[in-house]
Amino acid sequence: MQSPWNSIDLVLLDRDGVLNHDSPNFILTPTQWQPIAGSLCAVASLNDLGVKVALCSNQSAVGRGLMTMTTLLQIDQTMRNALASSGAHLDATYYCPHHPNDQCRCRKPRPGLLQRAIAHFAVPPERTLFIGDRDTDVAAADAVGCRAIRLDGETTLSTVIARKR
Ligand SMILES: [Mg+2]
Ligand SMILES: [Zn+2]
Repeated sequence: MQSPWNSIDLVLLDRDGVLNHDSPNFILTPTQWQPIAGSLCAVASLNDLGVKVALCSNQSAVGRGLMTMTTLLQIDQTMRNALASSGAHLDATYYCPHHPNDQCRCRKPRPGLLQRAIAHFAVPPERTLFIGDRDTDVAAADAVGCRAIRLDGETTLSTVIARKR
């Protein structure tokens, strides 16, 4: 049987609610970044399959003045360390730091972050899969013409990856 992964070269991941537990008050410090069970090993599975994995995440707490870019990058490093402990890595991370009122091109549901990733890895949208936990993630995927999976209470990154293997 052919693996469904044979048709995918690039997996784009939302961060909050996919890799780590989300918070209505934003993730503002490295210690607030807490991985969802199984999510890091799921990324390791994708690494093992040979697909590229990149993060596309809105972090408007920067634009809202709740967090500095320096802190966002510290959280990024915390995440990378946690991934490495599970034998996993991200091939790239793309963040939108803007305020919702900034009218930037990168804040999801706008397609800017996904377009940057797709251009960087030179993968056709139809061979790209976006996994997020909000309607805005699916809308961003639709805007660039890539596939999308929306996680909910029943499905996690871990269960989605296991199902497709
Ligand atoms: Mg999310
Ligand atoms: Zn932006």
